[in-house]
Amino acid sequence: MAHTTIGYTSDKLTPTELKKINRTRIYQYMYSAKQVSKQELANALELSLPTVTQSLTHFIDRGLVEKGGVYASTGGRKAQTYRCNSLAHVAIGVEVLKEGAEIAAVDLCGAILKEGSFSLSFENTDRYYQQLGAWIDQFAAGLPYPPQKLLGVCVALQGLVSADGETIIFSELLKSTGVKRSAYQKYISLPCSLIHDTEAAALAETWHKPDIINAIYLTLNRNFGGTLIINGQVHKGRELSSSATIEHMCLSPDGPLCYCGKRGCIETFCSADSLRSTAQMELPEFFDRVHTSDPRCSKIWRGYLHNLALAIDNIRMVVDCDFILGGFLLHFMNSSDIDLLCRYVREQCAFDTSSFTLKLSQYGNKSPKLGAAISLIDRFINQI
Ligand SMILES: [Zn+2]
Repeated sequence: MAHTTIGYTSDKLTPTELKKINRTRIYQYMYSAKQVSKQELANALELSLPTVTQSLTHFIDRGLVEKGGVYASTGGRKAQTYRCNSLAHVAIGVEVLKEGAEIAAVDLCGAILKEGSFSLSFENTDRYYQQLGAWIDQFAAGLPYPPQKLLGVCVALQGLVSADGETIIFSELLKSTGVKRSAYQKYISLPCSLIHDTEAAALAETWHKPDIINAIYLTLNRNFGGTLIINGQVHKGRELSSSATIEHMCLSPDGPLCYCGKRGCIETFCSADSLRSTAQMELPEFFDRVHTSDPRCSKIWRGYLHNLALAIDNIRMVVDCDFILGGFLLHFMNSSDIDLLCRYVREQCAFDTSSFTLKLSQYGNKSPKLGAAISLIDRFINQI
């Protein structure tokens, strides 16, 4: 979870403002600590016990906090513990793809409660948004939670979203450039927001994982994607909603034409679509052949990994950080493939980086819808 840092001087705040800030700090601390006693809260946040008690009562009355177990006694009274109620609110994440849509209801701790999919081919028409909205509404109505418990719907899509979240500013893949958030909201009853799918996937992989601080998340999907994570948060660009346009870095100016209009982008060498097009066969068959040492397919695969290593090396020359690999292709790759890719990255680098390794995605193709829901949870926790 990425916390908003709250800097304040208590003598400049009104009692109401101070109370709200302390409540936020208490909730966020409890959220991270999972289970905590009043005394621990008071000690950790340097608050008085009455302040802690008052805030806990406020949260318990609203169903946001519940009693946990008691700590084993060390002689005195056993200490009652408290924890956040993960089912106090639920967020809905949706992934819109060309060939269909995926949906998940996620609790406040990021656990998927219910999932679904819809084989509705994307088209940028009012009729499509109406059908999608009806399906999302039906899914929400089928959840065992009243509407006031639902934080909203966040739609992850293959496109860049403006900083204010209102406009899709580039989506050649879904032919949606210029489409407004209102097109989706029109037929969705709950509040709806939009997010770039790669950014959502990165959020799912890095959220609430203290070991991931600075990282590049690369998705090997039909289309390539990449996002920069700084201090545990997806880096937001100035003009684009995130810095997730790594796929359009140029690997070779004479390379194949990319859908963005340029030539030789990483997309044209490292996306699953580019691999399938080079192999001229479907990927399950291709990887069967690679893993049974078919000479032609093995050569194509080594060429692909070399290009991916080149892309990773280029990125490393700007930011030396963890690399997380995710996406559809990962399902076909075994540990030897990952080892080979790491070896190529080390060989590609001008410096000795013998310790270079890759982290692998934890959530696979669920990452975009999970991350979309998590974006709503993160906002809720930071604004509580
Ligand atoms: Zn491009």
